[in-house]
Order: sequence, then structure tokens, then C-alpha cells
Amino acid sequence: MAKYIIIGGVAGGATAAARLRRIDEHSQIIIFEKGAYISYANCGLPYYIGGVIPERRKLFVQNAQAFAQRFNVDVRCEEEVIQIDRERQTILIRRLNQTNYEEQYDKLLISTGAKPIIPPLEGMNLEGVFTLRDVQDTDQIKSFIDNRKPKHALIVGAGFIGLEMAENFCNLGIEVTIVEQSNQVLNAIDYSMASFIHTHLQDQGVQLELNSSLHSIKKDREHLEVSLSDGRIIQTDLVLLSLGVRPNSKLAKDANLQLGVKSGIQVNEYLQTSDPNIYAIGDVIEYPHPITNKPWHNNLAGPANRQARLVADNIVFGEREKYEGSIGTAIAKVFDYSVACTGLSTKSLEKEKLYHKSVTIQPNNHAGYYPNATTLVLKLLFNPKNEQILGAQIIAKEGADKRIDSIAQIIKQRGTIQELMQTEQAYAPPFSSAKDPVALSAYVANNIITGKMKELYWKEMLHASLEKVQIIDVRTPKEFSFGYIQGAVNIPLDELRNRLEEVSTDKKKYVYCAVGMRGYLASNILEANGFEDVYNLVGGYSLYASATRDLKEDAKIVKLPCQIN
Ligand code: FAD
Repeated sequence: MAKYIIIGGVAGGATAAARLRRIDEHSQIIIFEKGAYISYANCGLPYYIGGVIPERRKLFVQNAQAFAQRFNVDVRCEEEVIQIDRERQTILIRRLNQTNYEEQYDKLLISTGAKPIIPPLEGMNLEGVFTLRDVQDTDQIKSFIDNRKPKHALIVGAGFIGLEMAENFCNLGIEVTIVEQSNQVLNAIDYSMASFIHTHLQDQGVQLELNSSLHSIKKDREHLEVSLSDGRIIQTDLVLLSLGVRPNSKLAKDANLQLGVKSGIQVNEYLQTSDPNIYAIGDVIEYPHPITNKPWHNNLAGPANRQARLVADNIVFGEREKYEGSIGTAIAKVFDYSVACTGLSTKSLEKEKLYHKSVTIQPNNHAGYYPNATTLVLKLLFNPKNEQILGAQIIAKEGADKRIDSIAQIIKQRGTIQELMQTEQAYAPPFSSAKDPVALSAYVANNIITGKMKELYWKEMLHASLEKVQIIDVRTPKEFSFGYIQGAVNIPLDELRNRLEEVSTDKKKYVYCAVGMRGYLASNILEANGFEDVYNLVGGYSLYASATRDLKEDAKIVKLPCQIN
């Protein structure tokens, strides 16, 4: 009878144990979990803190006893594995009472997850300073909120968890300031997309301190005093450090298992470590990104679950299932918006020096004539030479999830714009338009690839020299009166054919409308009438205004995508 040992009993570990049992009824399976709980919903923790999930027990997918009984697995909570002896195929376990004992294994699976990053700065251990990773952290934050009734919370780091917590703190009536060292929230998406979220966060009353980093935290009598690197001090009642995670790979390192360049455990395509009897999955591993082929941590629950199923098969049947890698398909709710992304962003493509272009469209989530349509912003990144799709980002009130998933499927298959154009989307007016945003993004990309549309990006528009460029705004005079790009002449689309004499014959023409559609029609008209060097602003004025807005200005001057209609 084979003996399988799993270290870590949450997303990856518990899923692997259940699969192991399903395919090998007679093996001995032991899970060691250093925390008090297994198989809980860490993705739900922010919503329990915010009261959206009112009952704590709902966080627990299975309790240890029920899991043990259902799957005939020996679950040992509050027991930490402190050493792996690869030669003897044993592990050393420390109980809560600090006594140690050994267990022997035939196959070992490491699913120890990741640890929140805590910077080596003054004040990180003060009462009221938290990280959020597990149930214990959650209970501590919840109890602090219940007992101390904080009025203000400061979140350091504006990733997905930081923003989810911002919303949940606000739900509890707690004022929120977010400190983020880069110039944008949500580093997984591009600045222009994040700019819509900046406005939305400000609209919700969240104070955004971008380009700011944490220097230290001190305890005042009643408050915490947070010093920023620019010398400013913010008084707060609670600090949440949400600066990302590092793989929990010390156990593997001490056992001389091969680590990768980012200190995650290196695994082969069968999710096997440098020791053939030891496997690893989840946040603790690093694995090549399918597009860049460079090692990365995706730190997401979906891939951890997929790897768990696959690794169980390899443990029982030998190395036969290959892991294809994750492209980082993710989604988060940020107040009224969903922010979703897949594949690579412009930033990462530039870093990897991968040639690419992008389109950004802002169609409705469903037919405009059907009530309550809202605007969806979709950015698609692709290689115009071989047409491969490289990434996508969506911000929407509704409909981001299904669209990002369908683009992700094409990216994972190394699909092209042609293939995206060929995909089918279910349509009826309450759900979509006959030309779904996904199809539309592929059509616009195809226009660029085939040379039908010369694209112009907001940064190029920002740096346009009026000596060399004529900027033409083809929106209506009313739209123009609400705001326009400096130096633009207003020639509404429907008047363009009759006002061609106003169009320069020697300068480049930068044409724009609200979101890009009328600009494209205008550029067609101009080209058909013999004008050369006509470029259409991708994403239109809406994207340009959002991306160039000074955050200190009144957020209301920029219309959010969902307010365009
Ligand atoms: P974990 O689920 O973290 O499990 C690792 C376990 O190993 C821990 O319980 C730990 O106590 C235990 N352990 C570690 N060392 C030892 C040891 N030596 N001995 C015994 N036990 C040990 N992902 C998404 O895709 N979508 C989301 O919406 C999302 N939201 C999230 C929200 C929060 C607040 C957090 C913290 C994470 C979120 N994630 C989300 C990420 C997702 O939860 C992780 O990617 C996933 O849990 C990784 O699974 P894992 O098995 O690798 O690690």
C-alpha cells in the first residue's frame, strides 16, 4: 500500500488529497496542516471581514473531520512539517506542544503556499498592523474591528487583495487611504485601464496615495502614525500590509530541493521537484509562463486546483500528465466594477521586448436598446506580425468574467486574432450584442493588422506637436464643449465630407472621437478622399482623458466608462 504525504491542507493540498483518494482507494494519505483549518476559502476572507459573508462557518468548504471521513484521509491540523529527509524519505513534524515525531513517505507533495511580504521597516509588529493570508489573520482583523471600531484604515499596496479590502473596509464605514509605490493600482493591468479604477476609487471616497511608499509606523497614544518616504505622516487606526507574497519554500530549500530564480520550488512539467519522489504545486512553485517561457508565480486558486488534480494522477500512475502553465487569468471586484485580466500586459510585453500592438474598445455589455446597458472597457494585446493574442484586460460593471475567460481560452491555445474572430458568443439582447465586445475587439485588431486603420495611442497623442500634426475631434459640438484635447479642431463626423477643405494636406492627421468608432469612420472618409497619414486614437477621448487626468483634479471631470452612455 502506497503512502502519500501532503504538506499544506488548503487550496492545493486538500484538492490533491481528494483526487488521490478518488484514484487510489487503498493508499494511505496524510495531510499535515500547520494551521487549525483545512480546505477553507481564502479568497472569501475579505468578504467575511466586510460582512458580505456574514457567517464565519461559510468559509470552511469542509472541516477536517468531515474531510477525513469522506475521503479516508488522515488530517493532522496544527502540526507543522519542519524538515524533510530525502535520503530516508521521512519528514519531521512538530506538534503544537512542541514535541516532534517522524513519518515515512513513498511520495511527498508540498503545497505550502506563500507568505505575505512584510518589509523590514520600523513598526511592522505594532498592534493594529495586519497582513491577510489565512483564517487566523482574518479573525485578528475582525476582532480588532469589532473591539476598537477603527474609523480609518490605511492599506499599503494596491493589488487585488488590497483593493478588495478597501471595498470591504468601506462597507463597514471605515475611511480608507491606499498607499501604493507605483503610479497605478493593480499592476497586472496597464496604466490607462487602471486610470478608470483610480477615478472610481476616488468616487467611492478612497484616498489614493500613488507614487508613495511606506517608511515606518509608530504608535501615537490613540492612533498609528504612518510615515511615508516623502516625509508625510498619515494618522490611522489600522494598517493592512498588502504588498504581495513570497513562496513558502524554506522547507524545500533546507532539503536542498532545486529552487528557481524567484525562490519558488522548481518543478518539471509533471510538477515533480528535483527529487523524483517529491512533487510541489500552488503558490510555492515557479513555472514557465506559456508566453514568455520565463519562470513566474501566478498565485491564483484556479491553477493551484488544476495542478492538484494533475499531480495526483502523476503520483499514482507515474509521470503521464503534463502541466501546460498558467497565463494568469484573474478577476476582482472593485466596488461597482469587475477588473479582469489574462496573459501579458503592455508593461510586461515591453519588459520582455515582445513586439505588440493593442486595441481598446468601449462597447456596451449588452444591446444598448435593452434596459440598463453599461459600458465595458476591453483592451486586447496582440502581435501584429503573426497575429498571436498576448493578453487582455477588461473593466466592466457586468460581463467582464465571461469575456475574459473566452479570450483566455484562445490565448492558452496560442490562438490568433483570426481565431478570436471565429469564436462564437451566445447572444440575446439582455446578455450581449450581435457583435459581442470580444468579436468587436478582434475586428478592430484585424483592421490594424490589415492596415485598414492606422492606430494612435494616448501617449503619442499626448506628445503630439501641433506644428507637425493636425488634431481633429469628430464628436458633436456638445461633446466637444465638455472637454477636448488641446489644439483640436472640431469637425463632427457627419459634417466631415462637406468640410474637407479644413483638413491639412501637409500635416499628419490625428483623429479622435469618444471611444474610437467614429474616429475610425472619419479616418476612412479622409483616406478615401486622398488624405494620407491619418491616425485614429485608440480608445478615443474617454481613454485619453482618463489616462492623462491629474489625480488631484476633481474626478468628476472625467467621465467613467459606465457613464458614457
Ligand atoms: P494555500 O491555500 O495558502 O495553502 C498552504 C497551506 O500550507 C497553508 O494553510 C499553510 O498553513 C500550510 N503550510 C505551510 N507550511 C506548512 C508546513 N511546514 N507544515 C504544514 N502546513 C504548512 N486566488 C484567486 O484565484 N482568486 C481570488 O479571488 C483570490 N483571492 C484571495 C484572497 C486572499 C485574501 C488570499 C490570501 C488569497 C487569494 N487568492 C485568490 C490566492 C489563492 O488563495 C492562492 O493562490 C491559493 O490558496 C494557493 O493555494 P496553495 O495550496 O498553494 O496555498
